[in-house]
Amino acid sequence: MASARCSHAHADGRPCGGYAVAGSRFCFTHEPDLASDRDEARRRGGQAGRVATLPESDVRVRSLSDVLVLVEETINDVRTGRVDVRVANAVGYLANIGIRAIEQGDLADRLEALEAVLAPERQRRVAARRSAA
Ligand SMILES: [Zn+2]
Repeated sequence: MASARCSHAHADGRPCGGYAVAGSRFCFTHEPDLASDRDEARRRGGQAGRVATLPESDVRVRSLSDVLVLVEETINDVRTGRVDVRVANAVGYLANIGIRAIEQGDLADRLEALEAVLAPERQRRVAARRSAA
């Protein structure tokens, strides 16, 4: 049986999407009756302190395959507890920015190549018009 999803809607109308806790139509974050449990969890989280991060990192995100490698590694790291979910979320967010930058770079390169092809053609047409006049 599939778990029910949280009924909470964000300010912009998007549904929360979290899994509802047993016997509730809300997730742990949005169930009003669990407010004191949330506070307790937050306190414990604060005491637990440091976020799990890797000792060093020198990832490249110059191409889509670099990004794929990073995402793959991050999935494995978060699944085995080597990095904190918050770090994985930040990596996911930054990977998306990287993908957009790569896509825009590709677009700029293609535009430049197209302009290089079209410029001589344009000059030839201008010259032909001048000699016809
Ligand atoms: Zn929720």
